[in-house]
Amino acid sequence: MFNEERHLTSPIRWGMVGGGRGSEIGHAHRAAARRDGFFQLVAGAFDLDAERGREFGSNLGVAPERCYADYTTLFASEAAREDGLQAVSIATPNSTHYEITKAALEAGLHVVCEKPLTFSVAESETLKALAASKNRVLGVMYGYSGFPMLHQAREMVRRGDIGDVRVVNMQFAHGFHNTAVEESSPGAKWRMNPEVSGPTYVLGDIGTHCWQAMEMVTGLVPDELSCMRQSFIESRAPLEDNAHVMVKFKGGAVGTLWASAVNAGSMHQQKIRIVGSKASIEWWDEHPNQLKYEVQGQPAQLLDRGMGYLYGDNPGVCARIGGGHAEGFFESWANIYHRFALAMDAMERHDQAALDGLWYPDADAGISGNRLLECCVESADGGSAWVKF
Ligand code: NAD
Repeated sequence: MFNEERHLTSPIRWGMVGGGRGSEIGHAHRAAARRDGFFQLVAGAFDLDAERGREFGSNLGVAPERCYADYTTLFASEAAREDGLQAVSIATPNSTHYEITKAALEAGLHVVCEKPLTFSVAESETLKALAASKNRVLGVMYGYSGFPMLHQAREMVRRGDIGDVRVVNMQFAHGFHNTAVEESSPGAKWRMNPEVSGPTYVLGDIGTHCWQAMEMVTGLVPDELSCMRQSFIESRAPLEDNAHVMVKFKGGAVGTLWASAVNAGSMHQQKIRIVGSKASIEWWDEHPNQLKYEVQGQPAQLLDRGMGYLYGDNPGVCARIGGGHAEGFFESWANIYHRFALAMDAMERHDQAALDGLWYPDADAGISGNRLLECCVESADGGSAWVKF
């Protein structure tokens, strides 16, 4: 059973850019980072509105003089302090990720950046190289990838429990934007503006999550894809509010991905189903403590988090509380921040063995997400042509 006995010598001095008052995802970062005592929030540039950001940061317990007006001042001022920042999380709209992450890495900080990592594969590759040259962690906040039952799924695929993987169905299809909600929601509005959101809307906003889950669980290598995308709310064009992708993987497996914000009535519908030659497994983020395991010719089984029959030697299968209790989104995020902290610590100690044994969503996950988006745009805009990945 996991507990918080494991400590670093001292918590990582951590800050945030973005994630201010009223932001959708700021609290999730803070709740997850602080959960295991590995990170201490000491500074930030939390908001585009400097005064609101300062007041907000102070209310969180950050010293007022360390609540900065912008990220440039944050990185420069903290670099001048002996007790300055060691790591920063970036939870701002997509268009700012590249420049802020680059500045943070150049300032010698470990970075956790929101997804999609940047606007392009080229930008993300630049950041990956910069992080490597600075010996710094560049993590991408694919927060669902901390759910223990996804790690159980990964281990089952790795051990051959379902046979050879043949088909993968991925979907993240909610219904919250089935009408033009962006007219009254700033958080929705920027997502549908290509200058801020990037080359896609739903593909980048939610499609990248189930794509990353597919890569983590199956290890499949995409070969080519074909994409169809459209905006049912016409004012969202050229960005899509619905998309379907067909994928061919190297080795013969195939898959589909459905990303949608107009799936009326649906809360999330983030699911991944992996069909093997012997059996299938299926996971759904609305019931994240269970994994469906269906062996051909046998009754379906529902595996539960925290049970002795799981692959307990897999460090990804965290058990923060016994089986039967509902763990959720925040535990998943905390599991990822836990991994980020261990990676940052190992990197500073140049402990390559520890790093080799530690999985976390890294720059490669960010790059693959960008490649998915680039290929989808090229394919969809070319009449759903097949495009090499
Ligand atoms: P939001 O619009 O709700 O909040 C953005 C926050 O960043 C605001 O507080 C804003 O004032 C601040 N901000 C913007 N530009 C800034 C700058 N240059 N410097 C400092 N602060 C700045 O956005 P959101 O919905 O919280 O999304 C933020 C990012 O997180 C996006 O990239 C989004 O794709 C991602 N996201 C990820 C998940 C996930 O599950 N990993 C979930 C939601 C959002």
